[in-house]
Amino acid sequence: MVRELSHYIGGRHASGTSGRFGDVLNPCTGEAQARLPLADRDEVQSAVAAAVEAQPEWAALNPQRRGRILLKFVDLVNRNMDELAKLLSSEHGKTLADSVGDIQRGLEVVEFAAGAPHLLKGEFSSDAGQGIDIHSLRQPLGVVAGITPFNFPAMIPLWKSGPALAAGNAFVLKPSERDPSVPLRLAELYSEAGVPDGVFSVVNGDKEAVDALLEDPRVQAVGFVGSTPIAQYIYATAAAHGKRAQCFGGAKNHMVVMPDADLDQAADALIGSGYGSAGERCMAISVAVPVGEDTANRLVARLEQRVRKLTVGHSLAEDSDFGPVVSAAARDRIEGLISSGVDDGATLLADGRGLTVDGYTGGFWVGPTLFDHVTPDMAIYRNEIFGPVLSVVRAATYDDALRLCTDNPFGNGVAIFTRDGDSARDFATRVDVGMVGVNVPIPVPLAYYTFGGWKASGFGDLNQHGADAFRFYTKTKTVTTRWPSGIRHGASFVMPEGS
Ligand code: NAD
Repeated sequence: MVRELSHYIGGRHASGTSGRFGDVLNPCTGEAQARLPLADRDEVQSAVAAAVEAQPEWAALNPQRRGRILLKFVDLVNRNMDELAKLLSSEHGKTLADSVGDIQRGLEVVEFAAGAPHLLKGEFSSDAGQGIDIHSLRQPLGVVAGITPFNFPAMIPLWKSGPALAAGNAFVLKPSERDPSVPLRLAELYSEAGVPDGVFSVVNGDKEAVDALLEDPRVQAVGFVGSTPIAQYIYATAAAHGKRAQCFGGAKNHMVVMPDADLDQAADALIGSGYGSAGERCMAISVAVPVGEDTANRLVARLEQRVRKLTVGHSLAEDSDFGPVVSAAARDRIEGLISSGVDDGATLLADGRGLTVDGYTGGFWVGPTLFDHVTPDMAIYRNEIFGPVLSVVRAATYDDALRLCTDNPFGNGVAIFTRDGDSARDFATRVDVGMVGVNVPIPVPLAYYTFGGWKASGFGDLNQHGADAFRFYTKTKTVTTRWPSGIRHGASFVMPEGS
């Protein structure tokens, strides 16, 4: 049965009124399982209006009480984990264990954000001048918006909304139109935890809804995660409308394997990080860079062996290593890129094109694909594939490997596998990429550090979560104070200065 979805505005579900709808598919079967209203400008504006009305009272609540409400929300999400994870898998296609991880990594940031009383503390200087004290306040921006991708439908909305709400803002979320059901459930649970009506809303939709948020003068800041071209568009448009923006884009993450690395460990890490979640993670490793021909030959032999053992299947089947990709368009694009790799002369060691899974002929399947002898001019290297495709680019020396990672236009994540502290330290210091793993293939920082890529992977000044999230979602006010006993009579016409 096809479910009818809604928006969530002012603390309740709101049916779509634009007359435009999209289908939400189950990627394992290809069937439509829900109908999603696509918001027009009026619907977006009503969510923003509800947020404007609700925000001052929310901001006036002391941060510890806001934090307690967030902790109650975390508890509610945990109690509903099974249902949420199944719902997430049914729209995204990732395995159940991976969906639990998606939700869990989001909750960790909400838990961190519940420490708002500490994170919102300002600074204080006594006797900055004669009888003068200075202190700073961190105040919420007001109404802020989040625009999020399909690949982490729980984690990224939580990374954005947790700190924003903790800081006293109202939040309007425009989730991906591919998997909107979990974000809608999160909205219900925020309400159940005690977040006042209007403080967290969800408007579903596409470019029309996004543009309405970007152009609304009442929206003070926009947090975006998605592909690079859209990140650039959102960053430029938000800035043109005077908004603060942080926009995270696509990725092409490399893993350098040094001759002294434990190659079995490196191969396992490449298989997990390259093919997990069908490669649809912004921190997935899509390029392996073995240093030296001997390392390359030994690594590729191990990868080939392991790739053949992978099981692609239904997201709820216990033996699936990964499920389908998100849509038929994604499958066709990935298969097209695999064909281009063959045409460009890369060596195809495992071919995932044309995969079928028994009982699920309509699913969007792509099998694990492994290329060797990929070169930087090939389309499979230049593009983010966002599918289960791992490319081996052989480097002659450590310097060549470092240069390859640094010269790549993307700069989200990178890893080095080695037993040598010197090369690891040199690599971590010199590589031009935002997040580095040393013998860690997916170095997603924990909630109390910040997450953000460089170059074409991130636009804006501050990272997500950690202390940066509180800087992004607050503005600083500085107060200079002198009490009457310290004030001499008579006007002064010179510019006050520190001495
Ligand atoms: P996407 O860019 O297609 O969509 C992201 C969001 O933008 C969605 O909400 C979508 O509705 C909206 N959108 C799409 N086209 C738009 C347009 N023309 N105008 C305005 N809004 C538009 O990305 P996706 O396919 O949902 O997600 C996959 C991408 O996200 C990959 O490139 C992946 O690397 C990236 N990603 C990056 C990070 C990171 O932290 N850097 C994290 C997760 C995903």
